[in-house]
Amino acid sequence: MRLSQGFWQTYKETPAEAEIPSHQLMLRAGLIHKSAAGIYNYLPLGYRVVRKVEQIVREEMDKAGCLELLMTVVTPGDLWQESGRWDVMGGEMLKFKDKADRDLCISPTNEEAITDIFRKTIKSYKQLPVTLYQINTKFRDEIRPRFGLMRGREFTMKDAYSFHMDKACLDKVYDDLFKAYCNVFDRLGFEYSAVEADAGNMGSSDSKTHEFQVIANTGEDEIIYCPETGYAANSEKAQTKRANVDFDFNDQELKEVETKGKSTIADVCDFLGKPQSQSIKSLVYTAIQGEEEFEVLVLLVGDDELNEVKLKNHLGVDHITPATDSKLLEYGLVKGYIGPLDIKKEIMILFDEAIDPKAYYTVGAQKEDYHLTGYQVAKEFEEATFVDLRLAKEGDLTIEGSKPVLVKRGIEVGHIFQLGDKYTKAMGVTVLGNDGKTQTPLMGCYGLGITRVVAAAIEQCHDDKGIIWPKEIAPYQVYFATIAKSEEFKAQADDVYKKLTDAGFEVIYDDRKAGAGFKFKDADLLGLPVRVVMGERDFKESGEFEVVDRKTGDKQKVKIDGLVEKIKELLA
Ligand code: ATP
Ligand code: MG
Repeated sequence: MRLSQGFWQTYKETPAEAEIPSHQLMLRAGLIHKSAAGIYNYLPLGYRVVRKVEQIVREEMDKAGCLELLMTVVTPGDLWQESGRWDVMGGEMLKFKDKADRDLCISPTNEEAITDIFRKTIKSYKQLPVTLYQINTKFRDEIRPRFGLMRGREFTMKDAYSFHMDKACLDKVYDDLFKAYCNVFDRLGFEYSAVEADAGNMGSSDSKTHEFQVIANTGEDEIIYCPETGYAANSEKAQTKRANVDFDFNDQELKEVETKGKSTIADVCDFLGKPQSQSIKSLVYTAIQGEEEFEVLVLLVGDDELNEVKLKNHLGVDHITPATDSKLLEYGLVKGYIGPLDIKKEIMILFDEAIDPKAYYTVGAQKEDYHLTGYQVAKEFEEATFVDLRLAKEGDLTIEGSKPVLVKRGIEVGHIFQLGDKYTKAMGVTVLGNDGKTQTPLMGCYGLGITRVVAAAIEQCHDDKGIIWPKEIAPYQVYFATIAKSEEFKAQADDVYKKLTDAGFEVIYDDRKAGAGFKFKDADLLGLPVRVVMGERDFKESGEFEVVDRKTGDKQKVKIDGLVEKIKELLA
């Protein structure tokens, strides 16, 4: 591509709205153009990257035996009514009506649509298993669209859906696709981790689900992992145990102590001269399920935090939220001094498993300016409910191996999930089994964020000058810049350009009327793997080109005869 005829504009200034490198660099390098919040046009150079990512994903999916199809971007509301998701998808789903007043939406995901296609096509176990996928536009009206392509409202996803007669078959295909995902991310040269994720209330209890997380400081997710045992889980899901259990087991009486004005765990423990781990933190939540609502009192070791996802899953409700002041009043719970005793109205009480029923703790006294010391769960409750509700943290130990875990940030680029019969059952899908009886097939679903992968690639590899593309997805492979004045030299440069493209390289030919400094800045910003410079004087004097490796910055002088080989070597 000749840049003199290219549709390309770079920018010196970092746009104020862009907070993370990938967003800043994609805008500055003229790869994307913002249309509205979270909605971007892919410009020619940016679109080449998107297409290359799609192609890698396509190749690996095909290799795993999946079949590509293309579903509609708009799906009818009826299908979502059938699955029961029309009303629970919330504000992320963009709904609208057509002129005949029929409900429609822009697909945020396609389980319903694929299940509908499946039930109208497949009749017998002989036609299974099958995995179908598409690479298509999704729309989710995200609460906080941000970071450019990382969390867009309109974005491209590869979504796949598999169908099976039994769990063993689902497990096998799940493992195959797990490997296909690893192949994709290996080819991209990503540093990533496949982590156990939270299955929420989807699928059944033995449903497997993994997220593929690219390791990056700017990632929105937290990963808990153990280098020694290989354990890796999303923090929403991670189950670990406390490293520090310096609890107080010395027999003592329950005693009220004045803690005037001290309502935080830190203040109370400082005041009493006790470690925070010898206190209990009390939190009150309202759980909401449809029209129903109830409160729950959650008790955790003082220096632990609540994992809200675990609480929500344990309760099996749609939604949880901290209880309002008026709710607290209703139960006689005194803000800042809440504890498990002297509650006016019956309330569900859950203790985190890290609390030892035999240890003694400081708790709120349910009375302004007072706490209780010497509180022991075993003495107060005949049958207390203990549940794992705490958030895993750095330094915790793995449940099995007692090895320390670490915390890293990650970008979720893929998510695979065993759905079981959630959709096939809700939508009345049956297939004839080999015993002649009808059976409800099982499903798996497998998402991969194409456009998020593009952003993640930049997050993982860039420097202060610009992007450093992984070779497989760089918009072009070679940035060929000439610094030419004479017409004769321009003709020679055109020949070299032809030689390079004939050799099969994807080349950007910077033949613009501009100085070397300007061209090099653009080249570094765009970040193609190899830069070849043909300067008029150098070339005339020695017949040499300068070849630069974008990643390492290494520069070499190469003559025309060795040029193609040298580039091949750098791209290998
Ligand atoms: P997140 O927790 O980041 O919102 P999700 O759990 O909603 O992701 P899935 O529904 O599993 O995501 O979608 C599959 C994949 O699609 C994700 O792994 C991610 O790569 C991509 N994806 C999801 N939401 C977005 C978005 N708003 N912008 C870009 N890519 C997205
Ligand atoms: Mg989401």
